[in-house]
Amino acid sequence: MTTNSLQKALVEALSFGYQISPKALTVLKDFGKGRSEISVEEIVRKVIEEKARGKSSKSIEIDDLVSVFPDIFEGVAFRLSRSASMASGVKEGGKDLESEVEIVSDSGSLLSPGVETFSFLFKSRYEKLVKILMERPEGRQLIKISKMGKEKGNARIAGLVSVKRPTKSGGVEFTLDDDTGNVSVLVSSSEVKKALSEITLDQCIMVDVDASQGRLLAKNIFQPDTPSRVASTSKKTVYAVFLSDLHVGSDKFMESAFNRFLEWLNGVTGRSEEDEEIIGRLKYLVIGGDIVDGVGVFPNQEYELAEQDVYKQYEMVAKKLKLVPRHLQMFVIPGNHDATRQALPQPMIPRKYAEGLYSLLNVRMLGDPCLFKLNGVSVLTYHGRSLDDVLATTPGLSYQRPEEAMKVLLRARHLAPIFGHRTPIAPEREDSLVIEQVPDIFHCGHVHAVGEDNYKSTLILNSGCWQAQTGYQANLGISPRPGIVPVVNLATIEVVWKEFLTSFSLGSK
Ligand code: FE
Ligand code: ZN
Repeated sequence: MTTNSLQKALVEALSFGYQISPKALTVLKDFGKGRSEISVEEIVRKVIEEKARGKSSKSIEIDDLVSVFPDIFEGVAFRLSRSASMASGVKEGGKDLESEVEIVSDSGSLLSPGVETFSFLFKSRYEKLVKILMERPEGRQLIKISKMGKEKGNARIAGLVSVKRPTKSGGVEFTLDDDTGNVSVLVSSSEVKKALSEITLDQCIMVDVDASQGRLLAKNIFQPDTPSRVASTSKKTVYAVFLSDLHVGSDKFMESAFNRFLEWLNGVTGRSEEDEEIIGRLKYLVIGGDIVDGVGVFPNQEYELAEQDVYKQYEMVAKKLKLVPRHLQMFVIPGNHDATRQALPQPMIPRKYAEGLYSLLNVRMLGDPCLFKLNGVSVLTYHGRSLDDVLATTPGLSYQRPEEAMKVLLRARHLAPIFGHRTPIAPEREDSLVIEQVPDIFHCGHVHAVGEDNYKSTLILNSGCWQAQTGYQANLGISPRPGIVPVVNLATIEVVWKEFLTSFSLGSK
């Protein structure tokens, strides 16, 4: 596809008396850069045909493209949070318990429409987060940056933070962008400076500014944050286990510990009364990504692989998960080591790589992130790639306490606020990484450390890993915490940690 084809499409549209709006043109231009079954000319011809049927305007807008080619231009399920319900009766194990599962929104079915512009994405991010900010009581007096008078006085504005830099006088200056313009804001009070230190770049915040001194001075900063709320609970006692970062295929995959976990699920190992209770009511197993170690993920990875073929790595995972009792419903999202698009949101691991997993009837392959409900309890599972960026840029955080970094995301109401660092983000039309619905359980992995906390009634979990320390981690001084899993009672949202290392017992977390 060349500009030539776009040119032809334009000429053809004009010959029928139609114009293509500048925005639609940008979208078409970007679409043309990707591979596709259909050419830009064909798209425009079809849109004109459709428009000619009605008595609509002679301008081709983005909405026209979306209405004629929703699959290509809508980013599919971005708009419609796809809800699928399934209820499966249980014949074995979990006794008479029924699964009640609802997928609220899943990145697995998203397709990049080929639009290579980030302007849509950031506009979407801004709009969604301002909406959340406006739900706060303070959000009512919000005004647009362009509406801020030059006159003296106070104003409350909101936007994305684009630059943060120290000033000569020991303060910090940052730029705030909204959809009408941008301003430079100065922070001098230590209280506001502290609040700003927790704000990541590209995050959306609300700021009270004082314009009386000739420049804008920040007096107060508000994050979208999560409102005070009561978490939903299951009516029945049902348990869910959370795992992540199996890294099957790595020579550091802790196979015997994982086998011990599988034995525990099957009631093979000697069990306490507590184990009996859990196993009898265990319904769900959520796996938060990095299920294989992958190939070529980092330089010289081949020297640390026990299995160099990614297809075989997935076969090994399938063989293990086949041993999970069939009445347990499993949910699998990808991580950065898995064989799928690296940019967030990550589509589910494609069938061609993981045929064995797809053939397991109790495995549900989903995208990263994914929001679903288990017996009425909403679970947001996200691998956690952006935790690296949050940990690197927020003072006072450490890899050993991933729950603190996860709180930063909850307060920002965004899973990957920082753009252009280690977390690749796809140029989708809509920002689906905004945490629009506050989950009852927020589950991540990726950092290979365990974490648990409660933040305004949201249970925060980081489920550790099944991989011993790698050379890379040793260099960074990161000690993983493998072979231990959180088990959550969905009726009470209480957590029990179970460990499966033989050599020594970690006890509870
Ligand atoms: Fe990992
Ligand atoms: Zn990872």
